[in-house]
Amino acid sequence: MLQGEDAYKFINDAKNNCIVLGGKCNKSCIFCSCLTQSKVGLKNWTDPIDKTDLQYAIDFIDNSMPIYFGEGVSFLSCEPFLHPKFLELFEEINNHFPQTVKRITTIGTDITRAHIDVLLKQNVEIFVSVNTLDKQWRSKLMKNDNYNNLIYILDVLEEKIKQINLFYLGDLDVLKKDLDRLYNINNNLLQKQILLRLIEYSKYSPSMVKKIHINSKKSWHAAIEYFDKNVSYPLYWIRELYNFPQTKMTKVSYGKFNIHTARNDFNIRIKKALSFVEDNLLDSAILLAESSYEYFINKYPEYKDIAIKVENKTFGGSYIATPLLTKNDILNAIITHKKYEYYIASSDIFSYNLRDLTRNKAIVDYPINLILVE
Ligand code: SF4
Repeated sequence: MLQGEDAYKFINDAKNNCIVLGGKCNKSCIFCSCLTQSKVGLKNWTDPIDKTDLQYAIDFIDNSMPIYFGEGVSFLSCEPFLHPKFLELFEEINNHFPQTVKRITTIGTDITRAHIDVLLKQNVEIFVSVNTLDKQWRSKLMKNDNYNNLIYILDVLEEKIKQINLFYLGDLDVLKKDLDRLYNINNNLLQKQILLRLIEYSKYSPSMVKKIHINSKKSWHAAIEYFDKNVSYPLYWIRELYNFPQTKMTKVSYGKFNIHTARNDFNIRIKKALSFVEDNLLDSAILLAESSYEYFINKYPEYKDIAIKVENKTFGGSYIATPLLTKNDILNAIITHKKYEYYIASSDIFSYNLRDLTRNKAIVDYPINLILVE
């Protein structure tokens, strides 16, 4: 049974409708962010939970919302089907919430026949991180693969699959073949939501991950062009507001994965920031993550002088999105631009009870006036 801080975090995740199953993953994916997170002092895994842990969590679940079974906010998702008591725990949650949809994210390689029999009978939505179906690439990216099993479950669990996640690895032919293979496994798979993303790297990642990312960026727009035409519900992991084709994503409206929604949210927030700036002209500056800085200065050139680009020195590499910034990154930016009285930033940086991702608390009044906009 979980103890101490792990038990506390587990229940906190349950309050967000997430049941963390815990355990350690044996896949050693070279892009896994576990390494990066542990380097900055985050404990991002916990022991495998047992039925008693789950029973404690039941009271905190809201049965009108989907239940995320396997992953949480406090702990990185581990591969849920590696949990030795997955079926017992899944049965328990289904007994309590038979009607509520259970969402499970998996890499699909370790789902057994016994799992399949149960999954087919329950109200589940499966998000499969296929990554790629190219065997050579898979052997470079992960260990302990079970390719044939993945192919099998993509077909047999097709009706339960809600979303498929793919990496763009810098080779358009690999992407084309991945989509062809999905179609050949089961032609309904191309009707699913399919998320395309780049592999991200931090300053702690193996050098190969950085190489893949940099190379993939060169043909990323061509990949989007192709993907948009050949997938019914294309989704993209939005890492940068500026460097994304303006014309894309008009037909789909899935929240954070839609570039228009992402830009729209940013513009609503920035208007609030600018209205504060208007009242405190000459005294205020806007702190912007690299993911939004270029977009901002192009859209609002008249405010370029008060825009401060905040580098992510905590994680480094391609970790440029706003929620991945930390208090230390903010302080570094402020120290190098000391002349302002007010600094405006997104509340997304301190979204855990005014704490950042590394659980450091924001300084909002003294000695710095930090204004966080929602
Ligand atoms: S399967 Fe997921 S948790 Fe396991 S190593 Fe790969 S990325 Fe990390």
